[in-house]
Amino acid sequence: MASALVRFEGVRKSYAPGQWAVHELDLDVRQGELLTLLGPSGSGKTTTLMMLAGFELPSEGRILLEGRDIAKLPPHKRGIGVVFQSYALFPHMNVAQNVAFPLEVRGIGRAEREERVRKALATVRLDGFAERRPSQLSGGQQQRVALARAMVFEPPIVLLDEPLGALDKALREEMQFEIRALHQRLGITMMYVTHDQAEALTLSDRIAVFSQGRIAQLATPRGMYDDPQNAFVAGFIGENNLLPGKVRSVTDGVATVALDCGPEVVGRVVDAGGPGSDCWLAIRPERVAVAPVEAEALGEGALPGKLQEAIFQGDHTRLRVTLGNGGEIVAKRPAGGGALPDPGGPAALAWSEGDARVFRR
Ligand code: ADP
Ligand code: MG
Repeated sequence: MASALVRFEGVRKSYAPGQWAVHELDLDVRQGELLTLLGPSGSGKTTTLMMLAGFELPSEGRILLEGRDIAKLPPHKRGIGVVFQSYALFPHMNVAQNVAFPLEVRGIGRAEREERVRKALATVRLDGFAERRPSQLSGGQQQRVALARAMVFEPPIVLLDEPLGALDKALREEMQFEIRALHQRLGITMMYVTHDQAEALTLSDRIAVFSQGRIAQLATPRGMYDDPQNAFVAGFIGENNLLPGKVRSVTDGVATVALDCGPEVVGRVVDAGGPGSDCWLAIRPERVAVAPVEAEALGEGALPGKLQEAIFQGDHTRLRVTLGNGGEIVAKRPAGGGALPDPGGPAALAWSEGDARVFRR
């Protein structure tokens, strides 16, 4: 396994007594990886990044960079590159001067400085923009300058806090591919913060999902999607129907669940208590089959539903189906997927047992 470049050990951070912005953090960032911190607003992502950069101090625990405790080092001695959402470029300097700044601070001579700036600008595809002022650049270009400035002094790790948050959707997606390509080409270690799960899935080698100052799960994008370990991650990554119920019985890792809306269903136990305990049954919309018939006609295990509405989305249709007494399931039907139930008509639901997961509630 690749060695840890950065290690958070039992790190906690409180800004106000009794309130933990970061509750308990043990995390390794591996050499060369792009690790994303993904989570809702207020879950502790920025605080984590700022503690590594040195702008915030942990209340407890240690942070190691290349094996050394960096608690006592001020930000500029840590030599870490940082990119923020707001570009934070110096408006009175041109592009080349902005990118040269970290080199100047480090006392690097003019000739080498110019060579490194030229290379850094080429890396972010901004050759020819050296003389421009930040105000003469688009948002995407400004963010590329910020990236060049964060990388030009060859830091061991670059931290990026929602760097694409201010860009429109098309540009954001283009920049995601660019950052990914840059990361792969240069092999530079990056720690990336976002609240956008699609962005995290696109960019990351690994994702740490944050919830209330803790890591809810740490996994590859694929692993996170295919194998969520708890209801929070199941609901946060991709889409999931989460139906509340109670565990009836468990046999060989498969639970029978009495849904609060009535029907009994089975699902694979991921993390659940014994009989009688509250649980969620999670099933992804693309795993739900919907047929325009009564449940009996579909065979054993099919559930009786009623179509509320079918919403055309181009490449797929979203079906909103009511189930039992007050339950609701969303199903995704790819374009050309056969006859649809009529709104108000019967919509029998079925899925493979292995696709339904049972989580603690
Ligand atoms: P995220 O980046 O995931 O949105 P933050 O790390 O910014 O989350 O915030 C985590 C928690 O810490 C939030 O409850 C936030 O209000 C609080 N917090 C963040 N920065 C400060 C600060 N400088 N002073 C007081 N509370 C803060
Ligand atoms: Mg933040």
